[in-house]
Amino acid sequence: MRVVLATANAGKQREFAALLQPLDIELLLQSTFGISSIEETGTTFEANALLKARHAATVSGLPALADDSGLEVDALGGRPGVYSARYAGAAASDADNNALLIRELAQVPDAQRTARYRCVLALVRSGDDAKPFVTHGSWEGRIAREPAGSGGFGYDPWFIARGFACTAAQLPLAEKNALSHRAEALRALVAALQAGR
Ligand code: IMP
Repeated sequence: MRVVLATANAGKQREFAALLQPLDIELLLQSTFGISSIEETGTTFEANALLKARHAATVSGLPALADDSGLEVDALGGRPGVYSARYAGAAASDADNNALLIRELAQVPDAQRTARYRCVLALVRSGDDAKPFVTHGSWEGRIAREPAGSGGFGYDPWFIARGFACTAAQLPLAEKNALSHRAEALRALVAALQAGR
């Protein structure tokens, strides 16, 4: 099946390619079709994932897969959540977002620095697909006191997954791909596709 991947995030593209390798899905980047990112106006991960997938499918005329993901920090009431990519402002870099996160958590003790990554995947067969495939994944952890590692992207240098002593940016890509919120959502998507629901 030829599927358009509706993301402009290079880090995610690398993860998806690795995760989808065993499947009979030819993943085409939306830039191949001249499709640009649309504004993520939804207030939930699910709404934004569907928005991006429907847009890519409408423009390309092919099935499209989109994800929406982010970091939920308990001490911040779940922020940055759906606003993770633009936490420190519309044009914020990963470094800007991480700097704001760490400033906001400066007085928060270790035991209260719990957090999780969340991911929602949406696969639509067409722009107006009435029964899209929507799956969820999460990855529990906490926010470190010091950054470490150069792998991954986004908040990874500050995110220590439950059961680990190192950050997500210190994990080999293959290990992150097996454990991450996107991996869990993707495994659920594969199961849903195989079951035809
Ligand atoms: P999206 O492109 O709207 O889904 O925004 C996702 C944002 O959440 C990214 O820009 C990162 O800031 C953050 N994020 C999501 N998944 C990860 C991850 O696996 N590692 C680090 N940051 C992530």
